[in-house]
Amino acid sequence: MSGVRESFTAEVAVIGGGPAGLVSAIALAAAGVETLLIAPPRADDHRTTALLAGSVTALTTLGVWDVCRAHVAPLKAIRIVDDTRRLLRAPEVTFTAAEIGLDAFGYNVENRHLMAALYARAAEVNLSRIAAAASAVTSDRAGVAITLAEGATARVRLAVGADGQRSLCRAAAGIGAHRRSYPQTALTLNLAHARPHQDISTEFHTESGPFTLVPLPDRRSSLVCVLDPARAAEFSAATDAELSGEIERRAHSLLGKMSVEDGRGMFPLAVETADGFAHGRIALVGEAAHMVPPIGAQGLNLGLRDAATLAELVADTRRQNVDVGSPSLLARYDARRRADVMSRAVAIDLLNRGLLTDFIPAHGVRGLSLYLLDRIGPLRRAVMREGVAPASQPRLMRGEMI
Ligand SMILES: Cc1cc2nc3c(=O)[nH]c(=O)nc-3n(C[C@H](O)[C@H](O)[C@H](O)COP(=O)(O)OP(=O)(O)OC[C@H]3O[C@@H](n4cnc5c(N)ncnc54)[C@H](O)[C@@H]3O)c2cc1C
Repeated sequence: MSGVRESFTAEVAVIGGGPAGLVSAIALAAAGVETLLIAPPRADDHRTTALLAGSVTALTTLGVWDVCRAHVAPLKAIRIVDDTRRLLRAPEVTFTAAEIGLDAFGYNVENRHLMAALYARAAEVNLSRIAAAASAVTSDRAGVAITLAEGATARVRLAVGADGQRSLCRAAAGIGAHRRSYPQTALTLNLAHARPHQDISTEFHTESGPFTLVPLPDRRSSLVCVLDPARAAEFSAATDAELSGEIERRAHSLLGKMSVEDGRGMFPLAVETADGFAHGRIALVGEAAHMVPPIGAQGLNLGLRDAATLAELVADTRRQNVDVGSPSLLARYDARRRADVMSRAVAIDLLNRGLLTDFIPAHGVRGLSLYLLDRIGPLRRAVMREGVAPASQPRLMRGEMI
């Protein structure tokens, strides 16, 4: 923060310095938009993110990926194992990226490396950063006024709300949200193991939710283990040796002896979608607009599609000398993001609830779906392509600068 009671102006302010906010700010600045990034320092995050092919292309186009590359592991195959003890169990299914002509579905990267690469790129592009939180956001017909810590203010034409769950920007825009909380907590950690993962991510479906091992470089993987909250608390309090043994048991020793690393995380699971993605000169990206449980690596991949779509619309609008906070731009953004976000949120919600329920027909439907995916090649390939990338992608995700 460069001073007290200062007054900043810019065309666009991005509020929130998580990955969705940083990608928005870098994309806007790279397109020549005068951009202010309002981003307080963040706490350590030991999670990893599986970035799918379109996200990797966008980060490559924005000059971020080269810095990440040394720290990523490819996801060449995804194996789904029904590890429930139910009457109707699904067959094991393996999806391989080569089947749809890709080297990898995407790459897994530790969030600390991704964030470091994003901040390094943000420092290179023409971007002003204020390392403080916004305390109030109000919009009127001409622009958006943002109050910052210590009484400083900023005035912009468009505010990008990238301020995560419980978004101040979403409330300021008067946009409501629908939330469903699950009786589940995700325990996250990284671990080393004796056997190679062979670039395969394995998702065990259990009665309490998925237990997913995702490759990291060398003989390391990240784990997202979804449990009921009491069990997650027990796991979190276990010693390293106890937890390593329990995880190896749950993984059926697939990767041999395991050894957990420091940095366990606990995340209560919920699905939440905003009732709209933009209103009153405020556009929402990332978890400010939608939050989904960590199944199928969709959360941030959706958030990066928000960021890329919004930056593209702003850059195009600006070239036509039209106000970048205009209602027509916001309406186009809302229309372009709605189907992608809603369809994935509904699918993930159904999948997760299908695991939790004791309703036998639901197990039958899940088992049959996986059986059909295993047996019918064209169906499996269509599902894989749609999982990695929707039919229409923003330009950055196609490798084109905006
Ligand atoms: C266990 C787990 C595993 C996951 N795995 C994957 C995966 O493999 N692949 C995937 O695609 N997604 C994954 N996700 C989802 C992904 O982590 C999120 O989508 C992503 O972190 C959201 O990023 P964001 O930038 O929208 O929000 P955040 O990371 O929450 O950032 C929001 C930022 O806004 C800041 N902020 C808040 N209020 C203000 C304010 N008033 N002023 C200024 N700044 C403010 C906060 O400090 C924060 O830095 C996972 C999620 C979980 C829980």
